[in-house]
Amino acid sequence: MSVDGSLKAFKQAQDLIPGGVNSPVRAFSSVGGTPLFIAEGSGAYLTDIDGNRYVDFVQSWGPLIFGHRDEAIESAVIDAVKHGLSFGAPTQAESDLAQLVISMFDSIDKIRFVSSGTEAVMSAIRLARGYTGRDDIVKFTGCYHGHSDSLLVQAGSGAATFGNPSSPGVPADFTKHTLLAEYNNIESVKKCFADSSDIACVIIEPIAGNMGLVPADKEFLHELRALCDASGTLLIFDEVMSGFRATINGAESITGVRPDIVTLGKVIGGGMPVGAFGGRADIMAKLSPEGPVYQAGTLSGNPVAMAAGLAAISKLKKNAQVISVLNERAKRLVEGMRKEAESCGIPMQIDTRGSMFGFFFNEKPVKNFADACNSDAQLFAKFHSKMLQEGFYFACSLYETGFISTAITDEMIEDTIKASAKVFKEITNN
Ligand code: PMP
Repeated sequence: MSVDGSLKAFKQAQDLIPGGVNSPVRAFSSVGGTPLFIAEGSGAYLTDIDGNRYVDFVQSWGPLIFGHRDEAIESAVIDAVKHGLSFGAPTQAESDLAQLVISMFDSIDKIRFVSSGTEAVMSAIRLARGYTGRDDIVKFTGCYHGHSDSLLVQAGSGAATFGNPSSPGVPADFTKHTLLAEYNNIESVKKCFADSSDIACVIIEPIAGNMGLVPADKEFLHELRALCDASGTLLIFDEVMSGFRATINGAESITGVRPDIVTLGKVIGGGMPVGAFGGRADIMAKLSPEGPVYQAGTLSGNPVAMAAGLAAISKLKKNAQVISVLNERAKRLVEGMRKEAESCGIPMQIDTRGSMFGFFFNEKPVKNFADACNSDAQLFAKFHSKMLQEGFYFACSLYETGFISTAITDEMIEDTIKASAKVFKEITNN
């Protein structure tokens, strides 16, 4: 299999774009090798510029639950394009998508659309601060909420719960209001509340997908809700990744824990740049122009993006059983791969939620980021590059979640398991 075209394109891109990519994870840094430059996607497949074809388990990092070039989404987009790309004025499609999402999430009375997950979270946090009149926020190590300043934090020294910037360019003053807790560890959240009486919100991925797939325990989420209620703190569920993937009615429908604000992205845009945040009416009423909390966007609610989102979400709502069908496939995939790995003496932890799947080369179950970091990264890198050679495109980082689309058939799942068996044998024989 030649990837000469991708090698050449990457070289050129590196001269023009920092690291050759417009989002770091695409650079294959943690697995080595060259990122594949994509010529086209169709159904379950990606084709690179050298003509190699891969079954795609990344799906643009989540949005494409119906695979590439879904007919309904594609024709909705083409139709919208013919009416104009952007108006900067309201359109009916915004209310149509709003109504649809509100009908699917009990916790959302009103919603606002933005253009990315980062923007959705950044705005939700400003809203929580504006609503409560408080400054501090709590986030969990290993959860990713986009790249806005106050969320680029890592653990501070010693016993401190207040975070330090995790990137140069973020002033320490901007992260001094961000407290860090450990996922699935309620004691660490209690410590945050003991350290600060000024906590506006706790933000969590209720089904974490950015340290690999690590769902929160139900009981932990219930305790989190109770802690927030006891102190007038808002609970934000960041469902940019899990929204419409794990279930079509939000994590609240499977955990029984209702957030005050939900952030969405990825699937809600059907592959176009869309993010959203929504929640209780009295909280959303604080948002400009109804209320004083400022938030805006030239391309927010863009008509083409709304058309794609509307097509994707209405198709999902009409075919609600799709999530359990995809879950069956996801389970079969990771259970099959685990069996093959274990027959080669490779321990593997697996999990699925709806169309999301995760696997760790780890002897112990993964409950938090520290556990995830104990996984075998070298083994993952080998697995990744060998599976690529077999024609299967997995996320190029140990800390990412995999996705099943409706275009991925049972036969493709079987082929993937077979390829994994070959790959695990090769890895253990070398
Ligand atoms: N929140 C979560 C849970 C995410 O997974 C992501 C992106 N992977 C974001 C926020 C940021 O979204 P975006 O990349 O669209 O800015």
